[in-house]
This record gives sequence, structure tokens and C-alpha cells, in this order.
Amino acid sequence: MGTKGAQIVEMDVKKLTEMLNKALADEWLAYYQYWVGALVARGPMRPTIQAELAEHANEELGHAKMLADRIIELGGTPVLDPKEFPKLSNCGYDAPKDGHVKKLLAQNIKGEQCAIQVYNELLKKVMIGRDPITFHLLRKIMQDEVKHEQDLQDLLEDIKLS
Ligand code: FE
Ligand code: FE
Ligand code: MG
Repeated sequence: MGTKGAQIVEMDVKKLTEMLNKALADEWLAYYQYWVGALVARGPMRPTIQAELAEHANEELGHAKMLADRIIELGGTPVLDPKEFPKLSNCGYDAPKDGHVKKLLAQNIKGEQCAIQVYNELLKKVMIGRDPITFHLLRKIMQDEVKHEQDLQDLLEDIKLS
């Protein structure tokens, strides 16, 4: 760990890494929900929706990497066992049992809305001055989640209009 880099954080670093690990668990579950959802999708605009879900899957995996890197910088250890994901997760996992695109989109919109809420609360805890690096990282992730919600809601609207 970067000693000075962790010292300047004015909040309980252990608590912070625990919160980041919970978010990491969320990101992995979101990744898998999108990834497998893209494979089982069926219904109107299938190729478009599959591409969007697959793209979001990759972006969630990118978020997981950003969080894990930050946890390590702070002297913590990223979750090592996927069995921990459901226990740590804030937003849980919604299995895409019905591959109909409308159902998939609705499930993933719900997931994004949970993520936005979680990151918004995390951001408040990490407000400027306490840990500007984590703040910046969480702000970037939240911006992606807001975009994800918008993309999915747009697709759902288009399906309803078709
Ligand atoms: Fe994410
Ligand atoms: Fe997302
Ligand atoms: Mg998108």
C-alpha cells in the first residue's frame, strides 16, 4: 500500500474499504446479470438490446476493477471469494429467468436505480476533503450508472412505441 496515500484519507480506512468491497460485490453481480442476460435475451430489437446489455456488462466489470484497485491502494483486500458476493451486495442479484427483453430491461433498470442510490450515499460519506480520490472514482462510476439507466429506459420506451 502507498503509506502516505492512505494516511491522507481522513476517514476510517477500514470502514471505507468495507464499503468499497460491498460495492465491488454489487458490480460483479451486475456484471454477471448483464452478461448472461445478453445471452438469453429474446423479443423485439434483440440484437440492439443484446449489444447494449453486453456493453453494460463490460462497463460493470470496469467498475469492479476500479474499486478493487482503490481497495488495494487503501491497504485493503478485494473480496477473494465469489461466495461472498450475495452476502456483501447492497443490490443483490435478479436472475434473468424470463429472457423477454421487456423483463430484462425492467430488471436491469431496477438494478441501476439501486446502484445510483448506493453510490449517492457512498459519495456523501466520502465528500470532498475526506478522500478526494475515492470521491472522484465513485462520482465517475455513478455517472456511468446514470447513463446506464437512461440507455435502458430509452430502449424500453422504443419497444413500447414499436
Ligand atoms: Fe457499475
Ligand atoms: Fe450500471
Ligand atoms: Mg449504454
